[in-house]
Amino acid sequence: MFTRYLSSRRKALFLSLIIGLLVALLSGGSQFLMSHHKQEVRYDSLISGLGGYMNNYFAELRRSIDMLQPLTLSQCADIRSELTSRASFSLNVRAFLLVKDKVAFCSSATGSMLMPLAELVPSIDMSKEVDMALLPGTPMMPAKPAILLWVSNPLLANGGVFTSINVNLMPYILDTTRQNEFTGVALVIGNMAFTSYSDQPLLATDLHGQPVRSVQLQGLPLKIYLYADTWMLEELQFALLFGLICGIFASALAYFVIITRANPRKEILTAIKQNQFYVVYQPVVDAQDLEMRGVEVLMRWNHPGAGEIPPDAFINFAEAQKLIVPLTLHLFDLIKRDAPMLKKRLPPGAKLGINIAPGHLHADSFKEDMRQFAASLPPDHFQLVLEITERDMLNQMEATKLFEWLHLEGFEVAIDDFGTGHSALIYLERFTMDYLKIDRGFINAIGTETVTSPVLDTVLTLARRLNMVTVAEGVETPEQAKWLREHGVSLLQGYWISRPMRLDQLMVWEPDVQLDGE
Ligand code: C2E
Ligand code: CA
Ligand code: CA
Repeated sequence: MFTRYLSSRRKALFLSLIIGLLVALLSGGSQFLMSHHKQEVRYDSLISGLGGYMNNYFAELRRSIDMLQPLTLSQCADIRSELTSRASFSLNVRAFLLVKDKVAFCSSATGSMLMPLAELVPSIDMSKEVDMALLPGTPMMPAKPAILLWVSNPLLANGGVFTSINVNLMPYILDTTRQNEFTGVALVIGNMAFTSYSDQPLLATDLHGQPVRSVQLQGLPLKIYLYADTWMLEELQFALLFGLICGIFASALAYFVIITRANPRKEILTAIKQNQFYVVYQPVVDAQDLEMRGVEVLMRWNHPGAGEIPPDAFINFAEAQKLIVPLTLHLFDLIKRDAPMLKKRLPPGAKLGINIAPGHLHADSFKEDMRQFAASLPPDHFQLVLEITERDMLNQMEATKLFEWLHLEGFEVAIDDFGTGHSALIYLERFTMDYLKIDRGFINAIGTETVTSPVLDTVLTLARRLNMVTVAEGVETPEQAKWLREHGVSLLQGYWISRPMRLDQLMVWEPDVQLDGE
């Protein structure tokens, strides 16, 4: 039981570690997915914010430009002041240029001029209704990059309005990209790009990495790219930590639950309540006529999970857990339940051998427990024999007194497993014992050696001298039985006669062994 208990502990540990690992993976994973989802939502909202802002800005600008279109039919001197005031009221506009016959003839900044637009900005395609370009600078502000916008006049071929716009127009962009996870924003026009991380335009092919989001402005050849740290190291660390904490917590909880539920102490008490224990009876027969003189009661545990647990294992464990008293009282109950049937099967005066563990023998309640048990059995029928091992009689004074009391009350006492306790045989004289149960280790030896053990001979001689009845345990062969009878052993018990049986089997059992020469 104890090793089983240990191995179940190891199992519990293993199981709770697995549970912890699963919980860690699950909680860490879902935490990561959740923050990943939140991140996606942030990307979406930022890109739609940027797109919205830019679309609004250019829609506003287009309205101003549309109002300027009729001016392309006028003389520069006539409309110059209007042009200038429009420019100064248009946010971020550096200059408006009016174009007629592909020639810029009027600037909001410098007034009258005559310069073919193709010379001024070769990258603009005037045949398009709308075109854009990105330049590192304009003649008036050579070091400041600008966005150029061409909008042709639908009523005037080769005419229209040309606008240069400061690129640092987007405090909104710069502000939002300062949020930690965003690494930058790029405005891409044709093959040129302006980014939030460089003062100068770059070739679009020099942009590094894939944007996490992009948006194309309505009706304009301008795209916005959003860059971010997709790795989210911090989020990953947080998810790992979160998973770890959840995992440890779940592991500890699982271990606690498993252990308390699998607590062997509790298991024994539960087994009593759920009637998992039962008793079997092993006949003890007279060595001469092989008639049944009594039975030894042996306890069995039919565990729902572990199957049949041997008594050696759970008795020791019950003792260690201080549960031997309730367990023995339960044994008494089981015998009580069977007593009416046993009475039918066993003749008056039949011996009922009961194993008493030292933990119970030395308990305060022992005497009272025994009295009550004896009183609960059919009166004047069974002779109760308490089987006690040699080892349990260490305190001789106490044992002597206890045996006196037991005899006074009508119980008999057998020394169980005799010969294994290493006590000096002579001590036996001091006790008043009724039976010596010779351990099956000695019986085993009979027939395997030419001469049987001198210890067994000594034991038998001593028993005779002390007037004690001897019982041989573990008789497995007729040879052993024969030898034992010839050497004066009174009672036999063992598989040769019968294995321990349930009550219903005992009810119909008849001895069917014989000894040669009869
Ligand atoms: P024990 O008191 O020496 O009981 C005899 C054991 O030897 C039983 O094992 C029995 O099944 C087994 N046995 C009987 N004949 C033969 C045989 O011919 N050959 C072999 N190899 N074995 C034989 P079991 O039932 O497994 O019990 C083992 C021990 O557990 C018992 O040894 C006893 O010390 C303890 N035990 C059993 N039931 C109880 C109980 O109700 N209370 C207490 N305190 N101890 C018990
Ligand atoms: Ca016994
Ligand atoms: Ca024994």
